[in-house]
Amino acid sequence: MGLPEADLLACLQVDDEALPELLEIAHDVRRRWCGDEVEVEGIVSVKTGGCPEDCHFCSQSGLFPSPVRAARLDIEQMVQAARETRSTGATEFCIVAAVRGPDEKLLAEVRAGIEAIRADGNDINIACSLGILTASQVAQLVGMGVHRYNHNLETAKSHFPAVVTTHTWEERWATLRLVRGAGIEVCCGGILGMGETIEQRAEFAAQLAALAPHEVPMNFLDPRPGTPFSHLPVMSSGDALRAIATFRLAMPRTILRFAGGRELTLGDLGTRDGLLGGINAVIVGNYLTTLGRSPTEDLALLEELRMPIKALSSTL
Ligand code: SF4
Repeated sequence: MGLPEADLLACLQVDDEALPELLEIAHDVRRRWCGDEVEVEGIVSVKTGGCPEDCHFCSQSGLFPSPVRAARLDIEQMVQAARETRSTGATEFCIVAAVRGPDEKLLAEVRAGIEAIRADGNDINIACSLGILTASQVAQLVGMGVHRYNHNLETAKSHFPAVVTTHTWEERWATLRLVRGAGIEVCCGGILGMGETIEQRAEFAAQLAALAPHEVPMNFLDPRPGTPFSHLPVMSSGDALRAIATFRLAMPRTILRFAGGRELTLGDLGTRDGLLGGINAVIVGNYLTTLGRSPTEDLALLEELRMPIKALSSTL
């Protein structure tokens, strides 16, 4: 059990002087409940851009004049991306599509991609992120051997209507329940720095803790040109680190993953602080619409910090 919401709020409000101590406590909690291992994941986008939804942070929405061109990946490119991801030591490969939810064509592509990855002799765990699902689509993913599903709640329930108007927080929650009920691991996080108050940040951490996801990806807003949130300031590195430690103290056992925006918000030094302040998973390579750090930089940092990469056998 993690800290209650009132205590999470207090953590988010610690001053700069107390921040190193907060990070140290979060790091101790992470080591106690999750150990030293770091889970490494790669992601690939099979359908980029042209999404009908209006998530105000997202340059893949077809409703904003954002400079992301619609594109689709073919099976061979998917196999190649999975092979490259596995070669970094990663145990997770997440297939992502910019959609409200998958249609039959997309599900058929994902199925063919997974079969081709397996035929290539690649034993990496496969996750998907394909938006809002029906029960029968969840069953199809189970049949494909998908072991984890990413679907972010994005922000606190009270802030969600200021971020997305084309679907609701409750619709997202319903998909997460279906996924959990089918025995697929739940990956659910969000983006910080989208104009939420500190109280709403604590609310979000408590709501995620109530869901008890297997994994929580933490993103920090990278205000993309052309999106409704393009004017928002980049979150300060101090606030980002406070949030990392707080989310760890909300969810001692979860896989807390650095996802998008960390390079902009935290830089190299902050990446190290995050890994010593509660984070125990990273995405290697490029994110969906922005470039990430080179995998070798991240892997070298893990070696320097003496944090072993989680092996595939220990994730099964
Ligand atoms: S976050 Fe997902 S659902 Fe929302 S606009 Fe972007 S791709 Fe579409």
